[in-house]
Amino acid sequence: MSEEKVLEQVPLEAASPFELRVNLASGASESAVKRALTTGDMGFLHSFTTGSTVDGPGVRLVAWTAGCHWRCLYCHNPDTWSMMNGMPVTIDHAIDEVAKYRHGLKIMSGGLTLSGGEPLMQDRFAARLFTAVKGLGVHTAMETNGHLGDRLTDRELEQIDLVLLGVKTWTPQRHLHLTGKDIGPTLEFARRLSRLGRKMWIRFVLVPGLTDDPENIEQIAQFVTELDGVERVEVLPFHQMGRYKWKELAINYTLQDVQPPTNEMVERACEQFRAVGLNAF
Ligand code: SF4
Repeated sequence: MSEEKVLEQVPLEAASPFELRVNLASGASESAVKRALTTGDMGFLHSFTTGSTVDGPGVRLVAWTAGCHWRCLYCHNPDTWSMMNGMPVTIDHAIDEVAKYRHGLKIMSGGLTLSGGEPLMQDRFAARLFTAVKGLGVHTAMETNGHLGDRLTDRELEQIDLVLLGVKTWTPQRHLHLTGKDIGPTLEFARRLSRLGRKMWIRFVLVPGLTDDPENIEQIAQFVTELDGVERVEVLPFHQMGRYKWKELAINYTLQDVQPPTNEMVERACEQFRAVGLNAF
């Protein structure tokens, strides 16, 4: 399947990041995928969305990458787990898309955010895109779980103005249960960003019965206070907007009956972060 054909079938810009997209790269050969991952000549993207005000400062263009090796129980975009669900997009095409919006993004104090999925599953593509976009004078941000942070050099990290780092929960056992992966690399990436003087926003998803106990929040808050460069902590209320995707993809969803947290619960969590001197929303 040629890239042009894929792009004809599905517009790069999605109506919403919650649009289910599958099998868009299913015609790509294994060797083409390997080459793309090695060189960054091509990325696999779920979609672009414009006008976001929640994925970094100002108004953002968000490129959602496909591919994630975590399996968070509350993931609202499980269609981004497989890279093969993403649309193959050349690096030049991706840069052109950002360039189209660069004046507006600057006027609205925004920029490009690379999110996912997990952007560092495609670290060469991410590094090349950030370098080019910085070269256009556009602010850059990356939302990541941090697990593959060591794939970027210090120099490459300088091309990212802001890292939105997801800290999902505390203790190795709970983290393994929630995400399927070890918490260690995420914490190490946070410490490295801190040492390098990079800016961070910490993102924490509040899930009743799963991440909301005060001790859990307290331990995360203590860890974050030890970091330099954290501008804010964002407490994101769990929601069910991605529930239909689990059903469509025939994946067992264990949070079927979990209700979103109340405003009071979110505020209580924010207060715990504020109590140790952090800026929390
Ligand atoms: S890290 Fe993000 S994309 Fe990956 S499974 Fe977790 S919530 Fe989903």
